[in-house]
Formats: sequence, C-alpha cells, structure tokens
Amino acid sequence: MHDVIVIGGGPVGSHVARKLAEVGYGVLVVERRERMGGRVCCTGIISQNCLDTFHIDSNLVLRKANSAKIFSPSEKLIRLWRRENQACIIDRALLDSYMAERARAAGAEYLFKNTVEDIKPETDRIMIKTDSNGNELEYEARVVVIATGFGSKLIHRLGLGESGDFVVGAQVEVENAHIDEIEVYMGREVAPGFFAWLVPTSPQKALVGLLSRYNPKGYLKKLLSSLKVEGKIDYDDGKIDCRGITIKPPARTYSRRLIVVGDAAGQVKPTTGGGIYFGLLSAETAARNLKTALERNDLSAKNLSGYQREWKKELWQELKICYWARRLYERLSDKQIDRIFDITIANGIDKALLEVDGLSFDWHGRAILRLTRQKVITKSIKAIKIPLGFVLNGRSDDR
Ligand SMILES: Cc1cc2nc3c(=O)[nH]c(=O)nc-3n(C[C@H](O)[C@H](O)[C@H](O)COP(=O)(O)OP(=O)(O)OC[C@H]3O[C@@H](n4cnc5c(N)ncnc54)[C@H](O)[C@@H]3O)c2cc1C
Repeated sequence: MHDVIVIGGGPVGSHVARKLAEVGYGVLVVERRERMGGRVCCTGIISQNCLDTFHIDSNLVLRKANSAKIFSPSEKLIRLWRRENQACIIDRALLDSYMAERARAAGAEYLFKNTVEDIKPETDRIMIKTDSNGNELEYEARVVVIATGFGSKLIHRLGLGESGDFVVGAQVEVENAHIDEIEVYMGREVAPGFFAWLVPTSPQKALVGLLSRYNPKGYLKKLLSSLKVEGKIDYDDGKIDCRGITIKPPARTYSRRLIVVGDAAGQVKPTTGGGIYFGLLSAETAARNLKTALERNDLSAKNLSGYQREWKKELWQELKICYWARRLYERLSDKQIDRIFDITIANGIDKALLEVDGLSFDWHGRAILRLTRQKVITKSIKAIKIPLGFVLNGRSDDR
C-alpha cells in the first residue's frame, strides 16, 4: 500500500508529491496523460516572487515583463509600468515536466495513461480505480490527494460539492508577432465580462487568448482577425486550445483520507484566472498538514479539516474580494468600462495604485479595496447598483 496517491501530475499535484516524498513517504502520482511536458492550454505567466518562492529554474523563463498595455473597449490606453520585473512568462509545458522530475528525484513514482474513475475511502485505507485503455486496475493508499485541475467529476461524486463557478479560456500560439509588450484588451465585443491578451513569448512568437463564459473560440477567431488587420500578428491557422478554469471553490476540500488542491479546489485568482501561484501555496499547506496527519496516523475528516482552515486563512479574503470584483466587472457595459478608464487616467489612479503598499502581481485584493474607496469610483459603482457592503467593511466569510 502507498502512503499517498496523488491524482493528477500537473504543477500542483507534483509539488505535493515532491514535498511528501522528500520526507520519506511512499508517493504514487496517477496521471491520465502519456507523459508530462505535452502542450497545455495556459499562458504561463507567474510573478518573480512565485519563481523565487518555489525555486523554479530560471531556464524555464521565456521572457520577463515589467509593463503591460491595457486597452479599453474604445481603445483608451492605460500603461502599467514598474521599474522592477513583475512577471515571468514561463514555458508551461516544460514547467509540468520540470515539477514532475523534481518529484521523481525525491522518490515519487508516476503512473501514466491511467485515468482515475472512482475513489472509495474505507476505514483503514482508501482505494482508487483507474482505467488504462479499457483495463481497470485498483490501487490503495493511506490518503489520496485530488489535484485533477478543472472539471473533475470525482469531487462531486465524493459529496464535496460542485465547483462554485467557472470560465473557459481559449488560446493559440502565433508565429509572427510584431509586439514586445504584453497587451490586454477589454470589452464585450472582445471577451464579454472578461478580457483577452496578446503575450509575446520569444522572438516573433506570442500567445493570444481570452476568457469567456460562452463561445471563447468564436471570440478568439474574431480577435485574431482584428489583430492581423492591425498588423500586430500574421496569424494564418494555429490550433486553438480550450480549457476551463474554476473561479470559485467547491464547498469542501477535504474528507476522510482525502484532500483536494489546486484548480480542482478553486485556488485560482478570480480576477485573472491565474492558478499556478495560489495552487503551489496551497500545495505547501496540503503537504504540511498531510505530513502531520500521516505521522499521527490520524487521517480523519476532522483532522484534515485543518488543511482547509489554513489555506482559507491565507487566501479566502483575497478570493472573496476578487470574485466580487470579477462579478462587478462582468456587469459593466463597454461605456462604463470606458468611463472608468477616463476617471482612472484623469485622476492618476493608475499611478497611485502602483504605489499601493503590498500591491503585487499576485495579490489584487488590496488594490481593489483601495479603488472602492475612491469617491469617483464608488459613485460609478453605486450607479450600476452593485452592493459594496462586504468589500467596504472588509467583512470576511469564514465558512
Ligand atoms: C487559457 C488559460 C491560460 C492560463 N494562463 C495562466 C497563467 O498565465 N498563469 C497562471 O498562473 N495560470 C494560468 N492558467 C491557469 C493554470 O493553467 C492552472 O491554474 C494550473 O494549471 C493549475 O494546476 P493544477 O496542477 O491544479 O491542474 P492542472 O495543471 O490542470 O493539472 C491537472 C492534471 O490532472 C490530470 N487529471 C485530471 N483528471 C484526472 C483523472 N481522473 N485521473 C488522472 N489524471 C487526471 C490532468 O491530465 C492534468 O495533468 C491558465 C488557464 C487557461 C485555461
């Protein structure tokens, strides 16, 4: 019997696997893909802080960025710029194989081409059933970590609830890009309720993508045509990838002999859909709690609930404020977004925001709170009838 089975060999699953293998536990990672390192629908933007905190090899960085241009629906421009590097665009496919290699070096085993179909917690162990090309196999462990990313049915089947909310991302790599700065596009015609991006990765190459609740591929094709007309890219025909992103966690992320982590647990920034940093932070919390629980041989739901308490202590307020801001943004018309750009530029709010203590690429809550305290912004928000209550009071929900 293994000590730990991790389902899903993405960056978050591999990080938990590595941390537990390093302290001597027998870890098996079960992954449905053939290998790690294949194409993944992800832009791969992480902060310099994320790179440093998790000691990610800087050779994975394709490019660094200290600025971005943000365009309103009518092409008003806000340019965010800081002297120091803010973001690293990493090779996401390489990140997956790199994280898996590190876990392997620590002693974790990987089982590929196996999809976990069922999980059964029992009194003294937990069983998983996998399917590999029609062959059913069973494995057992003391505890299971679900790190399956977006959309796994396992969580719902185990009675942990549905993921609260999600959005779909679509992305394509373009070969002939003629820009050298990240560009972000807003507006209902481009990506209703969300945003689109053009991210240069290496000389001449870029990723173009967007998030949307519906028809992301259709919107992306439209965006590609207009970027081509503007001369920013020479896109002909690339394969568009689509993938969901959980932007609100399920009700519970633990149960007897089981925890859920990463995108599967909704540990994702609701503002941008970025999940690598929060997923890795939560992977650390998961590994720490599991280590203690395994040592004490207490894998009860009550004992593992400490994991949820801890990750929520770290992320919950941030997730709540950002989710609220996300829903607010989704309700804005193009005219209202343009108006907010006007107000921001006229009052120098963009520059003031960049000075906010603690504002970073990863943590947006403080900047959002700061914005809601600007009278001009509050007035505009009230005019579109969105309750400001919990944000202004800073009230938290500690469910
Ligand atoms: C278009 C797009 C752009 C993005 N850009 C960024 C970005 O720039 N920065 C950022 O931080 N985040 C970004 N994200 C989000 C980021 O990709 C995720 O947050 C991150 O991949 C989460 O890692 P994870 O390990 O939790 O899940 P995943 O990376 O999804 O890994 C889950 C793994 O589990 C495996 N699996 C699933 N079900 C099973 C099963 N039943 N049995 C066995 N294996 C299974 C999958 O094959 C997969 O390998 C983006 C997402 C999208 C869609």
